[in-house]
Amino acid sequence: MSTIEVTNLSKSYGSVQALDDVSFTIPDGEFVVLLGESGAGKSTLLRCLNGITKPTSGSITIDGEPVKGPRNDVAMIFQQHYLLEQMSAYSNALTGALGRTSFLESLFGRYETDDKHEALRALDTVGLLDQANQRAGHMSGGQQQRVGIARALVQNPNLLLADEPVASLDPASAENVMRYIRRAAAERDLSTIASLHQVNIAREFGERFLGMKNGELVFDGYRDDFTVDV
Ligand code: ADP
Ligand code: ADP
Repeated sequence: MSTIEVTNLSKSYGSVQALDDVSFTIPDGEFVVLLGESGAGKSTLLRCLNGITKPTSGSITIDGEPVKGPRNDVAMIFQQHYLLEQMSAYSNALTGALGRTSFLESLFGRYETDDKHEALRALDTVGLLDQANQRAGHMSGGQQQRVGIARALVQNPNLLLADEPVASLDPASAENVMRYIRRAAAERDLSTIASLHQVNIAREFGERFLGMKNGELVFDGYRDDFTVDV
């Protein structure tokens, strides 16, 4: 659970203004859907929140602390799951604990008992406990994305970011994966920002909505006010 404050955030790539003076505040534990067409600036905003991309100007704080680079308390899920396909769902989930484990120890599979417990708990959250030993490469796209969610949970974040997490899935799997992201966030009281481009899925799952167009924040509101098409 974290409070996020974004103030006058801008990012340009040469002449492209990917983010244009974006400001908003997200209170603890809110489930936010970030909407906008391809190129609107969603990924850039999420990467700035994650500390991977450095903004041109403006600031981001998480619980009052400025974001200066990648942080272990912020986890990100991507459109591509980036799983280790030869490894089991369980081993993939465990890699979420890498930030707390030395690389050498991880090579020998020497994770803490707590981390192993967390990996199983996370697989349970995403409904995959009974497939813990299944190779990731043999799973369906939706299941693989759920393993990616489990890995993010094992990182034990306060903030969960998801960049188009269901963009490469068919509509039924997409809804299913969104359901697990929301469940994971609710169970752990996580502040969550998920970017989507499908308005119907956004409507179904969003609580708070941020709409972007050409790098600008053009909508910021709650479910009942959500009428603008972005
Ligand atoms: P999406 O719309 O799904 O976010 P993009 O094509 O905008 O996909 O971006 C995919 C990747 O390519 C990102 O890592 C982004 O930083 C990079 N990228 C996007 N546009 C450019 C560009 N004009 N020059 C260099 N890299 C870019
Ligand atoms: P979205 O995620 O909404 O598709 P992006 O944040 O990926 O939007 O991109 C916003 C704009 O910034 C686009 O015009 C894109 O081409 C540009 N852009 C993104 N990343 C880069 C990059 N690394 N280099 C150059 N241009 C980029």
